[in-house]
Amino acid sequence: MRVYASHPERSRGRRHAEAPAPTRSEFQRDRDRIVHSSAFRRLVYKTQVFLNHEGDLFRTRLTHSLEVAQLGRSIGRSLGLNEDLIETIALAHDLGHTPFGHAGQDVLNACMKEHGGFEHNLQSLRVVDVLEQRYPRFDGLNLTFESREGILKHCARKNAELIEAREPGGVAQRFLSGGQPSLEAQLCNLADEVAYNAHDVDDGVRSGLLTLEQLETVPLVQRYLRETLADHPGLGGKRLLCETIRRMLSQQVYDIIDASEVLLAEAAPADAEAVRGHAPLIRFSPDMRAASHELKRFLFANLYRHPQVKGMRERAEEVLRDLFQAYMADARLLPPDFAGAGSHARACADYIAGMTDRFAIREHERLTGRKLFV
Ligand code: MG
Repeated sequence: MRVYASHPERSRGRRHAEAPAPTRSEFQRDRDRIVHSSAFRRLVYKTQVFLNHEGDLFRTRLTHSLEVAQLGRSIGRSLGLNEDLIETIALAHDLGHTPFGHAGQDVLNACMKEHGGFEHNLQSLRVVDVLEQRYPRFDGLNLTFESREGILKHCARKNAELIEAREPGGVAQRFLSGGQPSLEAQLCNLADEVAYNAHDVDDGVRSGLLTLEQLETVPLVQRYLRETLADHPGLGGKRLLCETIRRMLSQQVYDIIDASEVLLAEAAPADAEAVRGHAPLIRFSPDMRAASHELKRFLFANLYRHPQVKGMRERAEEVLRDLFQAYMADARLLPPDFAGAGSHARACADYIAGMTDRFAIREHERLTGRKLFV
Protein backbone atom coordinates (compact mmCIF):
# COMPACT_ATOMS: atom_id res chain seq x y z
CA MET A 1 0.00 0.00 0.00
CA ARG A 2 1.14 3.55 -0.71
CA VAL A 3 1.52 6.27 1.93
CA TYR A 4 -1.82 7.88 1.04
CA ALA A 5 -3.84 4.66 1.42
CA SER A 6 -6.12 4.39 4.45
CA HIS A 7 -4.50 2.29 7.17
CA PRO A 8 -6.70 0.33 9.55
CA GLU A 9 -4.21 0.90 12.39
CA ARG A 10 -4.59 4.65 11.92
CA SER A 11 -8.38 4.56 11.74
CA ARG A 12 -10.27 7.33 13.48
CA GLY A 13 -12.07 4.48 15.18
CA ARG A 14 -15.59 3.37 16.01
CA ARG A 15 -18.29 5.29 17.82
CA HIS A 16 -18.39 2.59 20.51
CA ALA A 17 -14.95 1.37 21.55
CA GLU A 18 -14.30 -2.32 20.87
CA ALA A 19 -11.28 -4.54 21.45
CA PRO A 20 -9.41 -5.34 18.22
CA ALA A 21 -10.16 -8.64 16.48
CA PRO A 22 -7.34 -11.19 16.79
CA THR A 23 -7.03 -12.09 13.10
CA ARG A 24 -8.70 -9.33 11.09
CA SER A 25 -7.97 -5.66 10.43
CA GLU A 26 -10.60 -3.09 11.39
CA PHE A 27 -11.66 -2.65 7.75
CA GLN A 28 -11.91 -6.41 7.17
CA ARG A 29 -14.09 -6.56 10.21
CA ASP A 30 -16.33 -3.82 8.82
CA ARG A 31 -16.64 -5.74 5.54
CA ASP A 32 -17.64 -8.90 7.41
CA ARG A 33 -20.28 -7.01 9.39
CA ILE A 34 -21.79 -5.72 6.14
CA VAL A 35 -21.87 -9.18 4.55
CA HIS A 36 -23.66 -10.63 7.58
CA SER A 37 -26.20 -7.80 7.85
CA SER A 38 -29.83 -8.34 6.94
CA ALA A 39 -29.91 -5.17 4.78
CA PHE A 40 -27.16 -6.70 2.64
CA ARG A 41 -29.11 -9.92 2.07
CA ARG A 42 -32.14 -7.92 0.99
CA LEU A 43 -30.15 -6.28 -1.83
CA VAL A 44 -30.64 -9.45 -3.84
CA TYR A 45 -34.34 -8.60 -4.30
CA LYS A 46 -33.92 -4.88 -4.89
CA THR A 47 -33.45 -3.38 -8.32
CA GLN A 48 -32.37 -0.19 -9.96
CA VAL A 49 -33.88 -0.12 -13.45
CA PHE A 50 -35.67 -3.42 -13.94
CA LEU A 51 -37.94 -4.93 -11.36
CA ASN A 52 -36.76 -8.11 -9.77
CA HIS A 53 -39.80 -10.00 -11.01
CA GLU A 54 -39.25 -8.97 -14.64
CA GLY A 55 -36.68 -11.71 -15.05
CA ASP A 56 -33.67 -13.36 -13.54
CA LEU A 57 -31.28 -11.97 -16.14
CA PHE A 58 -30.99 -8.46 -14.84
CA ARG A 59 -28.76 -6.86 -12.27
CA THR A 60 -29.98 -6.50 -8.75
CA ARG A 61 -28.54 -4.20 -6.11
CA LEU A 62 -26.55 -7.14 -4.80
CA THR A 63 -24.87 -8.05 -8.08
CA HIS A 64 -24.36 -4.33 -8.76
CA SER A 65 -22.60 -3.95 -5.39
CA LEU A 66 -20.40 -6.96 -6.17
CA GLU A 67 -19.46 -5.44 -9.52
CA VAL A 68 -18.57 -2.13 -7.85
CA ALA A 69 -16.42 -4.05 -5.34
CA GLN A 70 -14.67 -5.94 -8.17
CA LEU A 71 -13.94 -2.80 -10.19
CA GLY A 72 -12.96 -0.84 -7.10
CA ARG A 73 -10.57 -3.48 -5.80
CA SER A 74 -9.03 -3.98 -9.20
CA ILE A 75 -8.28 -0.25 -9.60
CA GLY A 76 -7.40 0.16 -5.93
CA ARG A 77 -4.82 -2.60 -6.06
CA SER A 78 -3.05 -0.89 -8.97
CA LEU A 79 -3.07 2.42 -7.14
CA GLY A 80 -1.81 0.90 -3.89
CA LEU A 81 -4.95 1.71 -1.89
CA ASN A 82 -6.60 -0.31 0.86
CA GLU A 83 -8.67 -3.04 -0.80
CA ASP A 84 -10.50 -4.04 2.36
CA LEU A 85 -11.86 -0.54 2.83
CA ILE A 86 -12.81 -0.33 -0.84
CA GLU A 87 -14.69 -3.61 -0.58
CA THR A 88 -16.50 -2.50 2.57
CA ILE A 89 -17.65 0.78 1.04
CA ALA A 90 -18.65 -0.86 -2.24
CA LEU A 91 -20.70 -3.58 -0.58
CA ALA A 92 -22.41 -1.06 1.72
CA HIS A 93 -22.92 1.86 -0.66
CA ASP A 94 -26.46 0.92 -1.71
CA LEU A 95 -27.77 -0.51 1.58
CA GLY A 96 -30.14 2.42 2.03
CA HIS A 97 -31.78 2.12 -1.35
CA THR A 98 -35.54 1.79 -1.40
CA PRO A 99 -37.35 -0.87 -3.37
CA PHE A 100 -37.89 0.03 -7.07
CA GLY A 101 -34.63 1.95 -7.45
CA HIS A 102 -34.69 5.67 -8.05
CA ALA A 103 -38.45 5.76 -8.42
CA GLY A 104 -38.68 4.58 -4.82
CA GLN A 105 -36.22 7.15 -3.50
CA ASP A 106 -38.04 10.03 -5.22
CA VAL A 107 -41.48 9.09 -4.00
CA LEU A 108 -40.29 8.44 -0.45
CA ASN A 109 -38.56 11.82 -0.46
CA ALA A 110 -41.83 13.43 -1.56
CA CYS A 111 -43.80 11.57 1.15
CA MET A 112 -41.24 12.71 3.76
CA LYS A 113 -41.19 16.33 2.60
CA GLU A 114 -42.73 17.65 5.83
CA HIS A 115 -40.74 15.21 7.97
CA GLY A 116 -37.10 15.84 7.06
CA GLY A 117 -37.03 14.26 3.58
CA PHE A 118 -35.41 11.04 2.41
CA GLU A 119 -31.93 10.63 0.88
CA HIS A 120 -30.66 7.18 0.00
CA ASN A 121 -27.02 7.90 0.89
CA LEU A 122 -28.06 9.14 4.26
CA GLN A 123 -30.28 6.10 4.61
CA SER A 124 -27.30 3.79 3.89
CA LEU A 125 -25.52 5.44 6.81
CA ARG A 126 -28.67 5.11 8.93
CA VAL A 127 -28.79 1.37 8.16
CA VAL A 128 -25.24 0.79 9.41
CA ASP A 129 -25.49 3.31 12.29
CA VAL A 130 -28.98 2.65 13.63
CA LEU A 131 -31.27 0.22 11.86
CA GLU A 132 -29.28 -3.01 11.95
CA GLN A 133 -29.88 -4.43 15.40
CA ARG A 134 -27.60 -7.38 16.02
CA TYR A 135 -25.25 -6.38 18.83
CA PRO A 136 -25.99 -6.42 22.53
CA ARG A 137 -24.36 -3.08 23.40
CA PHE A 138 -25.19 -0.76 20.50
CA ASP A 139 -27.50 -0.09 17.58
CA GLY A 140 -26.15 -0.50 14.08
CA LEU A 141 -22.93 -2.20 13.05
CA ASN A 142 -20.55 0.23 14.76
CA LEU A 143 -18.34 0.59 11.68
CA THR A 144 -15.12 2.60 11.56
CA PHE A 145 -15.16 6.27 10.66
CA GLU A 146 -13.53 5.52 7.27
CA SER A 147 -16.24 3.05 6.22
CA ARG A 148 -19.03 5.38 7.36
CA GLU A 149 -17.41 8.34 5.61
CA GLY A 150 -17.31 6.36 2.35
CA ILE A 151 -20.93 5.26 2.70
CA LEU A 152 -22.12 8.87 3.10
CA LYS A 153 -21.08 9.93 -0.38
CA HIS A 154 -23.57 12.77 -0.76
CA CYS A 155 -25.54 14.66 1.82
CA ALA A 156 -27.71 17.79 1.69
CA ARG A 157 -26.45 20.68 3.79
CA LYS A 158 -29.34 20.61 6.26
CA ASN A 159 -28.73 16.91 6.95
CA ALA A 160 -24.99 17.47 7.21
CA GLU A 161 -25.70 20.09 9.89
CA LEU A 162 -27.87 17.64 11.84
CA ILE A 163 -25.17 14.95 11.74
CA GLU A 164 -22.46 17.46 12.61
CA ALA A 165 -24.45 18.55 15.68
CA ARG A 166 -24.64 14.93 16.88
CA GLU A 167 -21.12 14.04 15.85
CA PRO A 168 -18.86 17.14 15.73
CA GLY A 169 -15.98 16.78 13.26
CA GLY A 170 -17.49 13.50 12.07
CA VAL A 171 -18.57 12.02 8.75
CA ALA A 172 -20.68 15.02 7.68
CA GLN A 173 -18.08 17.71 8.32
CA ARG A 174 -16.71 17.60 4.79
CA PHE A 175 -20.09 18.62 3.34
CA LEU A 176 -19.88 21.78 5.42
CA SER A 177 -16.16 22.53 5.09
CA GLY A 178 -15.66 21.30 1.51
CA GLY A 179 -13.09 18.54 2.13
CA GLN A 180 -12.79 15.21 0.32
CA PRO A 181 -13.18 11.69 1.69
CA SER A 182 -10.45 9.01 1.56
CA LEU A 183 -9.11 7.87 -1.81
CA GLU A 184 -10.87 4.56 -1.28
CA ALA A 185 -14.20 6.39 -0.94
CA GLN A 186 -13.49 8.54 -4.00
CA LEU A 187 -12.71 5.39 -5.95
CA CYS A 188 -15.94 3.62 -4.96
CA ASN A 189 -17.90 6.60 -6.16
CA LEU A 190 -16.31 6.38 -9.59
CA ALA A 191 -16.45 2.56 -9.73
CA ASP A 192 -20.19 2.83 -9.04
CA GLU A 193 -20.63 5.01 -12.12
CA VAL A 194 -18.48 2.75 -14.31
CA ALA A 195 -20.40 -0.31 -13.13
CA TYR A 196 -23.92 0.99 -13.66
CA ASN A 197 -23.22 2.59 -17.02
CA ALA A 198 -21.85 -0.72 -18.29
CA HIS A 199 -24.44 -3.03 -16.79
CA ASP A 200 -27.35 -0.83 -17.78
CA VAL A 201 -26.14 -1.01 -21.39
CA ASP A 202 -25.97 -4.78 -21.02
CA ASP A 203 -29.36 -5.17 -19.32
CA GLY A 204 -30.87 -2.58 -21.65
CA VAL A 205 -29.92 -4.53 -24.77
CA ARG A 206 -30.77 -7.93 -23.36
CA SER A 207 -34.19 -6.68 -22.27
CA GLY A 208 -34.87 -5.45 -25.80
CA LEU A 209 -35.38 -1.84 -24.68
CA LEU A 210 -32.11 -0.72 -26.30
CA THR A 211 -30.53 -1.82 -29.56
CA LEU A 212 -26.89 -1.98 -30.58
CA GLU A 213 -27.73 0.32 -33.52
CA GLN A 214 -28.96 2.97 -31.07
CA LEU A 215 -25.87 2.51 -28.94
CA GLU A 216 -23.65 3.09 -31.94
CA THR A 217 -24.57 6.77 -31.65
CA VAL A 218 -22.81 6.93 -28.27
CA PRO A 219 -19.09 7.62 -28.86
CA LEU A 220 -17.86 5.53 -25.93
CA VAL A 221 -19.78 2.44 -27.06
CA GLN A 222 -19.15 3.07 -30.73
CA ARG A 223 -15.37 3.09 -30.23
CA TYR A 224 -15.30 -0.42 -28.68
CA LEU A 225 -18.05 -1.83 -30.87
CA ARG A 226 -16.01 -0.93 -33.97
CA GLU A 227 -12.78 -2.20 -32.43
CA THR A 228 -14.44 -5.52 -31.60
CA LEU A 229 -15.85 -5.90 -35.10
CA ALA A 230 -12.48 -5.04 -36.62
CA ASP A 231 -10.85 -7.81 -34.58
CA HIS A 232 -13.75 -10.25 -35.00
CA PRO A 233 -15.51 -9.56 -38.32
CA GLY A 234 -19.05 -10.89 -38.44
CA LEU A 235 -19.37 -11.25 -34.66
CA GLY A 236 -22.90 -10.51 -33.46
CA GLY A 237 -25.44 -11.03 -30.69
CA LYS A 238 -24.48 -11.67 -27.11
CA ARG A 239 -20.76 -12.15 -27.78
CA LEU A 240 -20.52 -8.81 -29.58
CA LEU A 241 -22.32 -7.08 -26.73
CA CYS A 242 -20.19 -8.73 -24.05
CA GLU A 243 -16.90 -8.07 -25.82
CA THR A 244 -17.82 -4.42 -26.43
CA ILE A 245 -18.71 -3.91 -22.78
CA ARG A 246 -15.62 -5.80 -21.62
CA ARG A 247 -13.38 -3.47 -23.65
CA MET A 248 -15.29 -0.41 -22.49
CA LEU A 249 -14.89 -1.46 -18.84
CA SER A 250 -11.17 -2.24 -19.22
CA GLN A 251 -10.44 1.10 -20.85
CA GLN A 252 -12.30 2.99 -18.15
CA VAL A 253 -10.34 1.11 -15.49
CA TYR A 254 -7.01 1.90 -17.20
CA ASP A 255 -8.08 5.49 -17.67
CA ILE A 256 -8.86 5.95 -13.97
CA ILE A 257 -5.55 4.34 -12.99
CA ASP A 258 -3.51 6.51 -15.38
CA ALA A 259 -5.31 9.80 -14.67
CA SER A 260 -5.25 9.24 -10.90
CA GLU A 261 -1.55 8.24 -10.88
CA VAL A 262 -0.73 11.60 -12.47
CA LEU A 263 -2.86 13.54 -9.99
CA LEU A 264 -1.45 11.60 -7.04
CA ALA A 265 2.13 12.20 -8.21
CA GLU A 266 1.44 15.93 -8.59
CA ALA A 267 -0.34 16.34 -5.26
CA ALA A 268 1.92 13.87 -3.43
CA PRO A 269 -0.25 13.68 -0.29
CA ALA A 270 1.95 12.67 2.65
CA ASP A 271 -0.66 10.35 4.14
CA ALA A 272 -4.34 9.39 4.06
CA GLU A 273 -5.26 12.44 6.13
CA ALA A 274 -3.59 14.86 3.68
CA VAL A 275 -5.83 13.54 0.87
CA ARG A 276 -8.84 15.20 2.48
CA GLY A 277 -7.48 18.69 1.85
CA HIS A 278 -6.89 18.20 -1.89
CA ALA A 279 -9.27 18.35 -4.83
CA PRO A 280 -10.51 14.83 -5.78
CA LEU A 281 -7.50 12.74 -6.79
CA ILE A 282 -9.26 9.66 -8.13
CA ARG A 283 -10.60 10.80 -11.48
CA PHE A 284 -11.22 10.00 -15.12
CA SER A 285 -9.13 11.83 -17.71
CA PRO A 286 -11.10 14.82 -19.10
CA ASP A 287 -11.86 12.87 -22.31
CA MET A 288 -13.17 9.81 -20.50
CA ARG A 289 -15.15 12.03 -18.11
CA ALA A 290 -16.91 13.62 -21.08
CA ALA A 291 -17.49 10.25 -22.77
CA SER A 292 -18.92 8.76 -19.58
CA HIS A 293 -21.27 11.75 -19.19
CA GLU A 294 -22.48 11.28 -22.70
CA LEU A 295 -23.24 7.61 -22.11
CA LYS A 296 -25.10 8.53 -18.95
CA ARG A 297 -27.17 11.10 -20.85
CA PHE A 298 -28.00 8.48 -23.46
CA LEU A 299 -29.14 6.01 -20.82
CA PHE A 300 -31.31 8.65 -19.18
CA ALA A 301 -33.04 9.56 -22.40
CA ASN A 302 -33.39 6.08 -23.84
CA LEU A 303 -33.50 3.59 -21.00
CA TYR A 304 -34.51 5.24 -17.73
CA ARG A 305 -37.18 7.28 -19.56
CA HIS A 306 -38.25 4.42 -21.83
CA PRO A 307 -42.09 4.17 -21.89
CA GLN A 308 -41.94 0.62 -20.52
CA VAL A 309 -39.66 1.63 -17.66
CA LYS A 310 -41.81 4.71 -17.07
CA GLY A 311 -44.93 2.57 -16.74
CA MET A 312 -43.24 0.40 -14.16
CA ARG A 313 -42.02 3.49 -12.39
CA GLU A 314 -45.51 4.93 -12.06
CA ARG A 315 -46.93 1.75 -10.56
CA ALA A 316 -43.97 1.49 -8.21
CA GLU A 317 -44.56 5.05 -7.04
CA GLU A 318 -48.20 4.25 -6.38
CA VAL A 319 -47.25 1.20 -4.32
CA LEU A 320 -44.89 3.18 -2.08
CA ARG A 321 -47.22 6.18 -1.74
CA ASP A 322 -50.08 3.90 -0.68
CA LEU A 323 -47.86 2.05 1.77
CA PHE A 324 -46.63 5.29 3.31
CA GLN A 325 -50.19 6.57 3.72
CA ALA A 326 -51.35 3.29 5.24
CA TYR A 327 -48.54 3.15 7.82
CA MET A 328 -48.88 6.84 8.63
CA ALA A 329 -52.59 6.37 9.29
CA ASP A 330 -52.21 3.26 11.44
CA ALA A 331 -49.04 2.72 13.46
CA ARG A 332 -50.18 -0.79 14.36
CA LEU A 333 -49.39 -1.89 10.81
CA LEU A 334 -45.67 -1.40 11.46
CA PRO A 335 -43.64 -4.17 13.11
CA PRO A 336 -43.12 -3.30 16.81
CA ASP A 337 -39.33 -2.76 16.51
CA PHE A 338 -39.83 0.08 14.05
CA ALA A 339 -41.97 2.14 16.38
CA GLY A 340 -39.06 3.53 18.40
CA ALA A 341 -36.71 4.58 15.59
CA GLY A 342 -37.34 8.36 15.64
CA SER A 343 -40.59 10.02 14.59
CA HIS A 344 -43.53 7.94 13.35
CA ALA A 345 -42.98 9.26 9.82
CA ARG A 346 -39.29 8.29 9.99
CA ALA A 347 -40.22 4.82 11.19
CA CYS A 348 -42.58 4.46 8.20
CA ALA A 349 -39.83 5.58 5.81
CA ASP A 350 -37.27 3.25 7.43
CA TYR A 351 -39.64 0.31 7.15
CA ILE A 352 -40.55 1.00 3.53
CA ALA A 353 -36.94 1.73 2.51
CA GLY A 354 -35.86 -1.64 3.87
CA MET A 355 -38.39 -3.58 1.80
CA THR A 356 -37.48 -5.66 -1.23
CA ASP A 357 -39.42 -5.02 -4.46
CA ARG A 358 -41.52 -8.14 -4.09
CA PHE A 359 -42.25 -7.61 -0.39
CA ALA A 360 -43.48 -4.07 -1.14
CA ILE A 361 -45.72 -5.41 -3.90
CA ARG A 362 -47.15 -8.16 -1.67
CA GLU A 363 -47.62 -5.82 1.28
CA HIS A 364 -49.41 -3.34 -0.98
CA GLU A 365 -51.78 -6.06 -2.20
CA ARG A 366 -52.43 -7.20 1.35
CA LEU A 367 -53.22 -3.69 2.63
CA THR A 368 -55.14 -2.28 -0.35
CA GLY A 369 -56.53 -5.40 -2.05
CA ARG A 370 -55.28 -3.99 -5.35
CA LYS A 371 -52.88 -5.81 -7.64
CA LEU A 372 -50.65 -3.38 -9.56
CA PHE A 373 -48.04 -5.90 -10.65
CA VAL A 374 -48.97 -9.23 -12.20
MG1 MG B 1 -24.57 2.06 -6.75
